[in-house]
Amino acid sequence: MTGRGRGRGRGRGRGGNKFKIRESSDGKSHLGTTLRYQDNKPFPDQAKAGKGDTSPAYADAGPGMDSLTSPLDESPGGLIDDAPIKFLPLGGLGEIGMNCALVGTENRYVLLDAGLMFPDHEELGIQKVLPDVSFLARWRDKVEAVLITHGHEDHIGALPWVIPALDPSTPIYAGLFTMQLIQRRMKEFNLWGDGSRFKVIDMGERFRAGPFEMEAVRVTHSIPDCCGLIFRCAAGTVVHTGDWKIDENPVDGLNFDRAQFERVGKEGVTLMMSDSTNVLSPGRTISESLIRDSLVQKVLGHKSGRIITTQFASNIHRLYGVKAAADASGRKIAFVGMSLTTYLEAAKKAGIHPIDPDELVPAEEIENVNPNELIVVTTGSQGEDRAQLARAAFGGSHLLTLQPDDLLLYSAKMIPGNEKRVMRMMNAIAARGPQIAMKREDGLHSSGHAYRDELTEILKMLNPEHFLPVHGEYAFLKEHELLARECGVSHSTVIGNGQMLGVTPLRNGKSHGTLGNLHLLGQARLQTMFNDGGKGSGTSEDLAIEERMRIATEGIIVVDLEVFDAPLVKQTDPDDGASSESAAETPAATATTQKSPKGNLTARARVTSRSMWTDEGRMLAKIRDAAERSVESLGSGARLSAVERTCASAVRFAARGYSGKRPDVIVVAHRGSGSPSDKARLDNAMSTAGGGVPDDAKRGMTGASGTKYRPRAARRDTTPRNVRPLRGPGSARGDGGGGARHTRRDTEYQ
Ligand SMILES: [Zn+2]
Ligand SMILES: [Zn+2]
Repeated sequence: MTGRGRGRGRGRGRGGNKFKIRESSDGKSHLGTTLRYQDNKPFPDQAKAGKGDTSPAYADAGPGMDSLTSPLDESPGGLIDDAPIKFLPLGGLGEIGMNCALVGTENRYVLLDAGLMFPDHEELGIQKVLPDVSFLARWRDKVEAVLITHGHEDHIGALPWVIPALDPSTPIYAGLFTMQLIQRRMKEFNLWGDGSRFKVIDMGERFRAGPFEMEAVRVTHSIPDCCGLIFRCAAGTVVHTGDWKIDENPVDGLNFDRAQFERVGKEGVTLMMSDSTNVLSPGRTISESLIRDSLVQKVLGHKSGRIITTQFASNIHRLYGVKAAADASGRKIAFVGMSLTTYLEAAKKAGIHPIDPDELVPAEEIENVNPNELIVVTTGSQGEDRAQLARAAFGGSHLLTLQPDDLLLYSAKMIPGNEKRVMRMMNAIAARGPQIAMKREDGLHSSGHAYRDELTEILKMLNPEHFLPVHGEYAFLKEHELLARECGVSHSTVIGNGQMLGVTPLRNGKSHGTLGNLHLLGQARLQTMFNDGGKGSGTSEDLAIEERMRIATEGIIVVDLEVFDAPLVKQTDPDDGASSESAAETPAATATTQKSPKGNLTARARVTSRSMWTDEGRMLAKIRDAAERSVESLGSGARLSAVERTCASAVRFAARGYSGKRPDVIVVAHRGSGSPSDKARLDNAMSTAGGGVPDDAKRGMTGASGTKYRPRAARRDTTPRNVRPLRGPGSARGDGGGGARHTRRDTEYQ
C-alpha cells in the first residue's frame, strides 16, 4: 500500500518535470569526493568529557580544518556532561557566508540554513566554499529536518551538497519564494525527486520540525520572504533572527513582525542569535521605499538617453523602484543578465513579482528601442567579468553597447574585497562616456542588514537569558557581544565554527558566573569543502588548492628524461654515421657521456616550464644540464623511480639557484634506445614546446661545455606558444545572453 503510493508519487514527479536537468548532473556526480570522509564514531562521546572550566574560547582561524578526525573529539579545557539545548555552527561564524548550523535538544537536531561562501582564490579555479558535509553525513541519523531562513546563496547555496548527505526522508522547510529558488536548484542537480520532502511554510505558522515546535517570524531583508525562527522545546526557547533589518516602510507592504518578537520576548527566550553584519554601522538602515523614490528622481532627471541600473539579482524589492521609475517616466524595462530573470520568475511563481517577466523588453531588442524610453537592468555590480555590465564596460557584450548619453545608476554596494575590480569596471564605463551615479548621497542603495540601533532594539525586545552573535567576521561578533551587554543581556559569548555551545535555562533568573548557563560542550574538527564549479568537490587536498597556488606563484618544470644504462659511446649502434652525427650535434651530451664513470647511467633531458621566468630559455638550458648530470652517480639498472627522485631534487636545486623560485618539478624518466634519430626528434620537439626556449639557449648553452651565446639579434622569436593570454576583463566576450551562470557574489550582502 505504502509502496504503491510512493511509486505513484514518484512517477507523477517525473512526468510533470519539464525542467531541463543539466547533463552534467545525475544527482551525485557533482558531489565529487565530498562525502567520502565518513567515519562512524558515535556522538556525542560525552563519557570522555571532563568537568571544570566552562569558558568558551574562540577557535583560531579554523583549527583542524585541514585534518580529518571524528566529530567533537577534541576537548579544549573542561567540558560539562551535557546541556538540554545545543548549538553547533558549521560555518558563518568568524566569516561572511556559508551560514549553516545545527540546533538541537538532547540528541536530536535540525539544520539551520545550508549556505556557501565565495572563495578568495576564485582565480585559482575554485568557485564555491562549502561547509563540511561529510560531518553532516556522519550525523545524518541525528538531523531530523532542514530549516531555511531565506534564499540568499550564503543560506541555500550548499543545499546540492548537503541534501545528499542527509537521510532521504529528512524534510526541508522554507517559505514559498525561497522554495521556488530551492526547487530550481534541486532540479538542476537532479535532487528534487517528487518534491514531497520539500515543505513550504507560512509566516506565523507553527509546525513541528524534529524535536522542536517551530514558528517563523517575518523579517525584512534584501530578498523577499525572509524569516527569523523560534525553536520551542521542553527545555526552553531559542530565537534565531535570520538575516534582517527593520524596514519601517517596505515596498511590498510586508512588515517586520515586531509583535511576534515582542510576544516571544515576554514568553522568555533562553538563547537568542542575531545577525552581526552591520554591528559597526551606527544608526539605522534606510527604508527601501526611499531608494525607490531616489530611483524615480534620478530617472525623471535624465531626459535624453538610456538609464542603465545595476543591482544584486536577488533584490526583488529594488525592482519595485525600477518599476516605479519606469512608470513615472514612460520607459520600458529590459533585463540583461540571466540571474535577474531567474529571481523574477521565482517571484512570479510565489505571486510577489513587482514586474511581470512577460512585459520586459527582450534583451536582444534593446538596440531597437528609443533610448529615451528604456531602463536596462543589469547584473555585474561587483565587476564580475562574466557578468553583462563588465562585458559592456569593456565592449565585449553583444547585448549591451554603452553610449555616451547613458546614465548608469549603481544601485548596489561594493562588497569589501571587490573594490578594485569594481573601480576598474567603472573607469572603463566612464571612459565610454556614460554618466555614473554611485555616491552615497545618490541614495540608490540600502543595506539589508540591521545597523546598531536596530540591533539594540531587538536585543531589548527579546531580552534573552543568553545571547550568541552570529553571521559575521570575528571582530563583528565580539562587538555584537559587547552591544548585548550594553543592552542588559549579561550572558553572552562568542564561539567559532565547530564549537558546540550548550545552554541551560536559568532557574529563577539565577546563574553562576558571567556566562550564565552557557557551556562549551566540545569541538568538532571540521573540514572546509570546495567546489570547482563542475564535478570537482572535496577538501582542499582533493582539489589541490595548495598546489594550484604554488604553481601559480612558483611555476612548474617538466623534465622528460631518457636514461641509458651504459655510456653512449659504448653502445653498439648499427648506424655508425648517425651516431657520430649525433655526437657532433650535441657536444654536451658526448662530453657528459665521456665523463661518466664506466657502468653508470647517462641521460638526455628535455625540459619545459610554465608560469616561470626562464631568462629567455637560459634557465631551462641550465636545468637540462643539471637534469642530465644528476643521474651520473646512479649505477646502470637503477630504478626509474630512483632516477626521477634524484633528478627532481637536482632540478629543484638548479631552479632555486638560478631564479630563486621553488617550482613544482615533474620528472618522467624512461629508458632510451640511444638511437640518434630519437635525439634529433626530441630537439625538434623542444623548439615547439610552450616554454619558448630560444635557439641560443637550446644549443649554445646546452651542456657542461656550453659557453657560446649567439648574438641577441640572431635569437629566434621568444614569444611563448600554446600559451593562452591571461584572462582579463578586456577578453570577455558576449556569448548568447551571458551571465547565465550564477555570478559571484551577486546575491548577497548588499
Ligand atoms: Zn541574506
Ligand atoms: Zn546571510
